[in-house]
Amino acid sequence: MRLRACGLSDRGRSRERNEDSFVVDPEHRLFVVADGMGGHRHGEVASRIAVETIHRFILEGAGDGAVPGEPLAAPESWLLRAAIRSANERVLGAIRQDGSLLGMGTTVVGLLLDDGRATVAHVGDSRAYRVRDGQLERLTRDHTWVNEQVVAGHLSEEQARHHPLKNVVTRALGAGGEVSIETRELRVRVGERYLLCSDGLSAMLADDEICRELGSDRPLDDICRRLVEAANARGGIDNITVVIVEVGSNGE
Ligand code: CA
Repeated sequence: MRLRACGLSDRGRSRERNEDSFVVDPEHRLFVVADGMGGHRHGEVASRIAVETIHRFILEGAGDGAVPGEPLAAPESWLLRAAIRSANERVLGAIRQDGSLLGMGTTVVGLLLDDGRATVAHVGDSRAYRVRDGQLERLTRDHTWVNEQVVAGHLSEEQARHHPLKNVVTRALGAGGEVSIETRELRVRVGERYLLCSDGLSAMLADDEICRELGSDRPLDDICRRLVEAANARGGIDNITVVIVEVGSNGE
């Protein structure tokens, strides 16, 4: 399995700072997007701690002298969950050490691939999508108050998109105590693409627009740039981060 990937993060049109962070590491088959929150620069701090902790955990967990392309030392779903739990501990630890950081937190969505398998794990409203045979599939469900209302039948998807409380996440790293992580394992097929993104993209573009871009035959970095430009053209009300991963065959 050969991977091609790229990532792009943009401040957007209305935020002063970019509080999103991401990791693109095709060699270790790890991809992460985190969307930080909290006053001052604290969102930036939280999302950076999260992605750095997860990245380091996977590098170490892959075993001493991990060989790129070789199977991981531990099952990837276990590794990714443990990495996210570790990231939560690190964010909470930073808050304990410096009380001024109280209230910071971050969402996270991670993708870890092994031969033939993908693990997607997330906390909060950063999303993972997959395009296979021209069809877009959302792989995560938002941990938000509005999504809970949609699931319960109290709001429609469209009402949720425009609801004043649409940004309220019900799960985040740094929110205190144990973090509840949602995980999915999927079989991987050659030719498919994965997208990880912060809500600065998914709140601005409809799924069919995302599908059209992600399924196009443009180079991946072009697609990243076009997705960010499209979100900015709609107003860019939040930071925008996209990571795209394409699964190729060994011969490619
Ligand atoms: Ca955001």
